[in-house]
Amino acid sequence: MAMNRRQFLQAASAGAALTGIAGCAGTGGSAAKARVAVVGGGYGGATAAKYIRLLDSDIEVVLIEPNEAFVSCPISNMVLGGFRTMADITTPYSGLERHGVRVVRDTATAIDVEKKEVRLARGAAVKFDRVIVSPGVDFMWEALPAMGSADAQARVLHAWKAGPQTAALRRQLEAMPDGGVYVLTVPLAPYRCPPGPYERVSQVAAYFKQAKPRSKILLLDENADVTSKGPLFKKAWADLYPGMIEFRGNSKLADVDVAGKTAKLEFGDVKADVLNVLPPMKAGNIAAPYITANRRWCEVDWITFESKAAKGVHVLGDSLQIAPAMPKSATMANGHGKVCAAAVVNLLNGESPNPSPTLINTCYSMVSDKLAIHVASVHKYDINDRTFKAVPGSGGVSSAMNEAEGAYTMNWARNIWADTLS
Ligand SMILES: Cc1cc2nc3c(=O)[nH]c(=O)nc-3n(C[C@H](O)[C@H](O)[C@H](O)COP(=O)(O)OP(=O)(O)OC[C@H]3O[C@@H](n4cnc5c(N)ncnc54)[C@H](O)[C@@H]3O)c2cc1C
Repeated sequence: MAMNRRQFLQAASAGAALTGIAGCAGTGGSAAKARVAVVGGGYGGATAAKYIRLLDSDIEVVLIEPNEAFVSCPISNMVLGGFRTMADITTPYSGLERHGVRVVRDTATAIDVEKKEVRLARGAAVKFDRVIVSPGVDFMWEALPAMGSADAQARVLHAWKAGPQTAALRRQLEAMPDGGVYVLTVPLAPYRCPPGPYERVSQVAAYFKQAKPRSKILLLDENADVTSKGPLFKKAWADLYPGMIEFRGNSKLADVDVAGKTAKLEFGDVKADVLNVLPPMKAGNIAAPYITANRRWCEVDWITFESKAAKGVHVLGDSLQIAPAMPKSATMANGHGKVCAAAVVNLLNGESPNPSPTLINTCYSMVSDKLAIHVASVHKYDINDRTFKAVPGSGGVSSAMNEAEGAYTMNWARNIWADTLS
């Protein structure tokens, strides 16, 4: 009798599950059905780790993350503005441990797909049946020759991974004299968080308005125009910070004079008192073997988030080659984590993953200490084109900056931190 698709998947997965038991037994005799290793405890990885445990507590989950605690990029621009603290954006990993996720404080140095193990910088390798990789972005320093050294990177900051650099950039802004110039350079899209640079200059302007009102802000953007919520940001800058923020589009950064705090553009140099450089970005280094698009990003099967380059490896978050109109955002990475967790649980149990997943995105931006704007969208999997597509008319932007959305922004942040980590 011929097997139908469901019977086939069940039989195949029984084999997979048995492989899992064997794999786990090899690393200490666990009785779990299977083991999933997750590399990276940010918005994508932490969410996937938690949701796998919620959906099937017989699956062992090992999360590999070097940082002691999770520090959120969303709201980190408000730390630069002086309106929030590092403590406000930091959450411990203990919430995940309460769900039974084993958190290993280490850095993954390689993923061996043949041996099904993640090798670590310090500890013993972690065996897996499936591995989920969500390492965020890394920077293409090769595009800015003078920025290649650790010393240069410690002086000209990006603060595009929240953590010590966020606090260090705040100190640079505090030390800048009134009347100084803060310069932020923005690479060509796609980069992590399309509205993030424009929120950042708004927050720095809010700080300058209070503390150093003679100061100026120069936004040197390789993109022709503001890439997200453009009219709303420009109106906020004109209304709240008249004459303080200057936007210069088509400004491609060629290199940096580190000692001179100078942005070296293709056409001309711009001297700063505080120089903040966002280099071009690519998939996090550990995901390099799964890069298939433009030598920068990883492509996946959007139903399961399984890499197009390696079986059993799932990639999430900012490392992905985006689907049309899909931003590199925390909301998206959190959504990727849930869709992937459900699919991985299905696969390990011999079930078919949801053939029609949906993702929702909301990006709030604080334009002052209290006022915010947002953009939202719904993305549905298209069976014919095998990609996510924005549902026409499903989203939208704020009609104007307003205080109610300022309050929603913090609600959104607390909700996503809880959904990802508690
Ligand atoms: C200033 C700023 C503001 C932002 N604001 C918003 C916002 O308001 N709303 C929004 O939706 N998005 C926002 N974002 C974007 C959001 O932060 C990212 O899209 C999101 O973090 C992507 O999740 P991720 O899981 O891909 O990466 P991350 O959240 O960065 O997580 C990656 C994790 O992987 C770990 N890692 C990396 N390599 C390894 C390795 N080899 N071994 C082990 N662990 C490793 C890292 O330590 C890190 O914890 C903002 C970003 C910035 C920079």
